[in-house]
Amino acid sequence: MDNQIAKIIEAVSFSAKKHRFQTRKGAASEPYINHPLEVANILASIGGVTDLEILLAAILHDTIEDTETTAEEITERFGSRVCNMVLEVTDDKSLPKAERKQKQIEHAPYLSPGAKQVKLADKISNITDVVENPPKEWTEQRRREYVDWGVNVIAGLRGANPALERHFDELVARAKRSLAGGSQHHR
Ligand code: ZN
Repeated sequence: MDNQIAKIIEAVSFSAKKHRFQTRKGAASEPYINHPLEVANILASIGGVTDLEILLAAILHDTIEDTETTAEEITERFGSRVCNMVLEVTDDKSLPKAERKQKQIEHAPYLSPGAKQVKLADKISNITDVVENPPKEWTEQRRREYVDWGVNVIAGLRGANPALERHFDELVARAKRSLAGGSQHHR
């Protein structure tokens, strides 16, 4: 079997094991692994990304932030470039949430080209969820704020992947229409 395919399967298996106890925040409580797999799929099928290491970083992108995975583990199995991209999109969970969100906006312009694309696909996946399958307790206001924050993060990394950016812009336009439309009923 092609070595690259074997590496992809290894990353999928590794990430699935690491995320095995987690579910997504959305009301449907999907298995968490659906999200990193969707991010990798968005990169490959919409973004036209063929760089193996970017796809591996996408599959692994939330393991350090959300599971007990260490940077050493990722480096040993998948190499230092993959590990660096994962670290670039890993929030420092010791910081308060508002500060973490602000840092994502500030750091976006300084991410490597690969990490920028992973970040773009990550925001596409998360905003799609917030529009189509939001956590039950999220108000429309909170959902709108989430979309606005995503727009501000992505503003800092424009030029990384035009096809993904186009898709992101269409998604945001759709999200704003559906969230604005919904709120009129309450006014
Ligand atoms: Zn993610």
